[in-house]
Amino acid sequence: MTDDTAPREFPGPERSPESALVLFSGGQDSATCLAWALDRYDHVETVGFAYGQRHVIELECRDPLRHGIAGLSAAKWRERLGADHIVDMATSLSAIGATALTTRTEIAMSADGLPNTFVPGRNLLFLTFAAAIAYRRGLRRIVTGVCETDYSGYPDCRDDTIKAMQLALNLGMQRRFVLETPLMWRDKAATWKLAQTLGGAALVELIRTASHSCYLGDRSRLHPWGYGCGACPACDLRRAGFERWKMETA
Ligand code: ZN
Repeated sequence: MTDDTAPREFPGPERSPESALVLFSGGQDSATCLAWALDRYDHVETVGFAYGQRHVIELECRDPLRHGIAGLSAAKWRERLGADHIVDMATSLSAIGATALTTRTEIAMSADGLPNTFVPGRNLLFLTFAAAIAYRRGLRRIVTGVCETDYSGYPDCRDDTIKAMQLALNLGMQRRFVLETPLMWRDKAATWKLAQTLGGAALVELIRTASHSCYLGDRSRLHPWGYGCGACPACDLRRAGFERWKMETA
């Protein structure tokens, strides 16, 4: 499904310091990160991961959302959007970690205080695969929408984890990747605010209706904050953030 088959030197030179690879799942956070990167960098590629997620519908949202975002701004964003890459980890990740995100288990908190939607090592693997693609494609910055402020308690979303990963990837691949986390210190309300700043009401509306967060993959109901079951932790977080943002801007 990747369209990066054009021959490139290997190992390729960096395309430009202003090139980026966005981890783009099709959710609210990564959609905002894509707009953020398109606003800043000359060349932006995206990567998505199939890992056997229950909300596989998220992957189907990616393409329309990706092109929708790039089409919002005058030609600038469209010209900057490059290839999309899909990494299929469905067999490996669902075989290793049976969690509520990849199996039909009830979503709940486990004894160690983490929700059982936590897929061990998932973000570490995503970043490693992303860096391998960035290496091959000559992309310097790797943008991920992880967040420590308003998150689900996943330890691989923490700033310290990302900093350690940046060091490990740079040592292990002998590159100078920069891991960018524009949402790290923003809560979900501030993430909506950032979307408004980057792309105005049109971007907010696109993210509201075309991005997907619900863990159960429910897109049958459109709420003021977007599609979802309205009851899972991802819907809760998204609704609370949207309502807080609306209150702050009222
Ligand atoms: Zn939901």
